[in-house]
Amino acid sequence: MGSLSTNTFSFLDSDGFTNDSKMVIDFIADYYKNIENYPVQSQVKPGYLLTKLPDTAPYCPESLEDVLKDVTDSIIPGLTHWQSPNFFAYFQANASTAGFVGEMLCTGLNVVGFNWISSPAATELESIVMDWIGKMLKLPSTFLFSGNGGGVLHGSTCEAIVCTLAAARDRTLRNIGAENIAKLVVYASDQTHSTLLKGVKLVGIPSSNFRCLSTSFSSEFSLSPQSLEDAIENDIKAGYVPLFICATVGTTACGAVDPVMDLGKIARKYNLWFHIDAAYAGSACICPEFRHYLDGIELADSLSMNPHKWLLTNMECCCLWVKQPRLLIESLSSNPEYLKNNASESNAVVDYKDWQIALSRRFRALKLWACDS
Ligand SMILES: *Cc1c(COP(=O)(O)O)cnc(C)c1O
Repeated sequence: MGSLSTNTFSFLDSDGFTNDSKMVIDFIADYYKNIENYPVQSQVKPGYLLTKLPDTAPYCPESLEDVLKDVTDSIIPGLTHWQSPNFFAYFQANASTAGFVGEMLCTGLNVVGFNWISSPAATELESIVMDWIGKMLKLPSTFLFSGNGGGVLHGSTCEAIVCTLAAARDRTLRNIGAENIAKLVVYASDQTHSTLLKGVKLVGIPSSNFRCLSTSFSSEFSLSPQSLEDAIENDIKAGYVPLFICATVGTTACGAVDPVMDLGKIARKYNLWFHIDAAYAGSACICPEFRHYLDGIELADSLSMNPHKWLLTNMECCCLWVKQPRLLIESLSSNPEYLKNNASESNAVVDYKDWQIALSRRFRALKLWACDS
């Protein structure tokens, strides 16, 4: 055949795969069995690995036994053991057997679901699972596909924030003209995660237009609606255009919760995009006794939450729900000939490539589905 196709065989042959993967699974199971024996924080010095590995890749293949021996001798000492029961930094113990099984299925099937036709199940399962979790969180139906909103899985909150900022930016610039981008202002409390400022810079809004509003001990470090409204009024008087307010449910430094309902009312009054970052604490809102932290969510435009923090989902997995997917798509879509669905389907399907930064995407929904099943 004169084609360049390499698809006449696969580099993953079933027999070798069965043996090798069993060995790796046993290795991982042993690791978990012994995890408490390791010092939680790695004790190595910077550059330690260079002294342990050769300068160039080996010319001849090595056996899996040798590779696993290298993992034991060279890699494990350089790990900080996030899954150890003695690990209390950041977010811990997010792995689960269900998450791992889902991750294996994702890696094993290895499809690339950038649009519907490239793997219909990848898209459809993701939409279904996003509606499931939305219902577990008792989100208003306007965030669900069944209510003309919808959700997408990103790798991280950073990506979710960049995409929502881009959607908000373009919605407003369509009204005021792209030349006014330097007038757009973004608001959050001084407890907001650093990802927001990164997002502001990435979407081309001057970082000096990021209003980092003070919080205090006396208000448990939550953002005061009055200080938001004062800042918005000041900015309008000075000729700026208020664009975006990010509230946090569960801040990184101290677990503060911003008053979603009151901030939402101000967002609606001034027509700002209202995003809620509930990266780790959002999962807790599935419990009826914590759901009240999301009261007022109906006033928001978007919500992001990382199941890879508190929902026993292996890395990495961030849920983003939006009320108006159209606005994300208008900012992020690209439609070259080679990425089109069949014409008869194209209006009826979701193309997740238009809901995220990257084109290629993993079948993450399998993992979340396995965790929720
Ligand atoms: C962890 C965290 C983030 C950053 O999440 P990534 O997925 O690593 O980008 C943002 N906001 C809050 C509140 C967080 O806890």
